[in-house]
Amino acid sequence: MLNRRQIIGGMAAAAAGTAFTWKQANRLMADEQKTDKRPLIISTWPFGKAGNEKALATMQNGGSTLDAVEQGIKVVEDSGNTSVGLSGRPNAAGYSQLDSCIMHGPDHQAGAVCAIEGIVHPISVARKVMEETPHVMLAGEGARWFALQHGIKSVDVQADQAKKSEFLAAKKLNSSSEAKPGSAENHDTITMLVLGPDGTISGGCSTSGLANKIPGRVGDSPIIGSGLYVDNEVGAAGATGVGENVMRYCATFLIVEFMRQGMDPTMACQKVIERIAGMDPRNKKDLAINFIALDKQGRFGAAGTDDFPHSVTYPGFSEVLTVKAT
Ligand code: ASP
Repeated sequence: MLNRRQIIGGMAAAAAGTAFTWKQANRLMADEQKTDKRPLIISTWPFGKAGNEKALATMQNGGSTLDAVEQGIKVVEDSGNTSVGLSGRPNAAGYSQLDSCIMHGPDHQAGAVCAIEGIVHPISVARKVMEETPHVMLAGEGARWFALQHGIKSVDVQADQAKKSEFLAAKKLNSSSEAKPGSAENHDTITMLVLGPDGTISGGCSTSGLANKIPGRVGDSPIIGSGLYVDNEVGAAGATGVGENVMRYCATFLIVEFMRQGMDPTMACQKVIERIAGMDPRNKKDLAINFIALDKQGRFGAAGTDDFPHSVTYPGFSEVLTVKAT
């Protein structure tokens, strides 16, 4: 087994095109991606790091893995992020419709909301759906009504729409190339997975989806098995990227199934990208999909169709790591 210095040396050689490839280097690095420290938290993108740190603090103060996911994701929903929460870029009609889901490993529980308007913390609504209803997903007006009944922080929808319309007018978002659904600057999601000290696994997702999406469009993020999947016996996986290229393949369900068959998290994420790229006629890079995963043993990993920065936190460690494109 190579040590980290040899691997990094190998990666430099790979960059120079002399020794093994980036893909091999990624695999070798992936072999080291394991910790015995708990809780272990992994999330999408550099903006996930602040959320991870809140999740860690939540557990260190006695919270559950579920509390950690909710509190961690709320930090990102509150952060002014342009692709998560009410600060996210608006849809084609000029207002935000948000998607979120949460899963808790024990008893395989899940809750979700989609196309919800004027709600500050969709992740908290998803948790309420999971804990206080016999349902898994609420959509649109019904989801907002339910959130208001449960006292989740809200804003006036008309005011939010007016504000976003001004934003649209100012940015001429409809006519700019930036507005194209699917272009990388226009979407992202906070997806967070938490492995607790007793092996309990929870996960959550929250997003404003693709900028300039058709009103009513729902992506992968609130769909169990697409944007997020947790299996308490095996591990968990989460997605970010163009939801249409994730949800047609039940991608996170498949990652967890690959881990069940014995793959480590990085390899399972890479295999799913290869599976999707093999079926989709477009170039792999144009798919714009990224995955994170962790397993019950504390191994963690990620893969993307482009270089993919993601955040990993456990006691004594909190960093943004980047995997090269698969
Ligand atoms: N998956 C999200 C969606 O399609 C966007 C993203 O994560 O980039 O709505």
